[in-house]
Amino acid sequence: MSLKDQLIARIQQDGPMSVSDYMTECLLHPTLGYYTTRDPLGAAGDFITAPEISQMFGELIGLCLAQSWMDQGKPVRFTLCELGPGRGTLMADILRATRGVAGFHDAAQIVLVEASPVLQLAQADTLKEYQPDWIDGVADLPDQPLLLVANEFFDALPIRQFLREGDGWCERLVGERDGSFLFGRGPTEPQVALTDRLSDASDDDLVELCAAAIPILTVIAGRIASHGGAALIVDYGDWRSLGDTLQALQNHESVDPLATPGQADLTAHVDFEPLAVATRACGCRHTRLTPQGVFLERLGITARAQALSKALSGSELDALVTAHRRLTHPDEMGNLFKVMGLFPAYATPPPGLEP
Ligand code: SAH
Repeated sequence: MSLKDQLIARIQQDGPMSVSDYMTECLLHPTLGYYTTRDPLGAAGDFITAPEISQMFGELIGLCLAQSWMDQGKPVRFTLCELGPGRGTLMADILRATRGVAGFHDAAQIVLVEASPVLQLAQADTLKEYQPDWIDGVADLPDQPLLLVANEFFDALPIRQFLREGDGWCERLVGERDGSFLFGRGPTEPQVALTDRLSDASDDDLVELCAAAIPILTVIAGRIASHGGAALIVDYGDWRSLGDTLQALQNHESVDPLATPGQADLTAHVDFEPLAVATRACGCRHTRLTPQGVFLERLGITARAQALSKALSGSELDALVTAHRRLTHPDEMGNLFKVMGLFPAYATPPPGLEP
C-alpha cells in the first residue's frame, strides 16, 4: 500500500491529522518515508545544501569550531557531533580543514545523529577513514565537552500550525476528500505554548510550533553549559516567524506539500526565538542571529575563495565564483539562512558571531 493510501486510511479511521503527524509520516515513515528511502541531495536529487555547493562552507565551519576548542583550553576529549549529516560532506570538510590543528583530531570523538538508513550508508562511506559513531538521538551524547553543527537539520523537524481566533487558536489539520488531501481547521482552544504570540499575531494569522526542537536544544545547551564546547545552528528562518512556511521541494521545484506524500522534501522555516529561549533556560548562552553571508565573510570566505581560485581556470573558476555568490549573496542563501551559536557562560562566542 502506498504512503498516500495509508494516510488516507488513517484519516478515514481517526479523523484529520496534525501537520506535524503528516510531516513525520512523509519524511520518516519506516519503509515509505522521504528520508528513509533515498538520498535527496545534490543536482540529481531534490535540493542542494551549502556543503554540497562548496567545500568552503565546511572548511570555515571546521576552523570556527576548532578555534572555539582552542579558546576553551583544548579539552583532551570532546564530542564532535553533527545532526542530520546528509552525505557526510560537511563533516568530511570539517575534518580535512582541521587536520593541521594540533591535537584536535586526537581529542575528537565523532558522533552523528541520522534518521535515514540510506544516508547513514553514504556517511559511512564518505567518513570511512574517521570511524564515526552513530547515536539514536542527542540524549545519548557522551558527558563531555561538545562541539556540534546542525545545517538544515531543524527545518526538517515536524511543525504544528495554528491560526489565531480571538484569544484561542485552532490547529490547521490535514484531511481527505475524494482521494486527495486538503487543509482544514480543528476546534478553537487555548494554547499555553502560544501565550506570548497573542501580542503579535492578529486574527487568522498562522503561527508555527516546532515542539520536537526544544528537547533537542535543551540537551545540547545543557551539555555545553556543564561541560563546555559550542554549537552552530545554521538554517533558513528567522526570529519569531509568522505565517505559513511549510514547503515541499521535488526536483528542485516547489510543489504542493499535500500532493505527493513521501516523494517530496517537506520543511518549514526555523523560528530561532524558541531555540534561544530553551538555550537560556539551560544556563547556556547564545549569539545573535547572524545572516549566513555575514558569518562566512567574517570567517574569511573571500580570502579562501581567492586562494582556491589560483589553481583554477575556465569552468572550474566560474563554478567557484558562483558557489561563493550562492553561499554569501543576500539575494541567494546569504540572508535567508541564519546562524546562531551556543557557548558556555564563561567562554567567548564562536568566531564570526557576536554575543
Ligand atoms: N546537513 C546536511 C543534510 C541536510 S538534509 C547538509 O547540509 O548537506 C537533512 C538531514 O537531516 C538529512 O541527513 C536527514 O536524513 C536528517 N534528518 C531529518 N530528520 C531527522 C531526524 N528527525 N533525526 C535525525 N536526522 C534527521
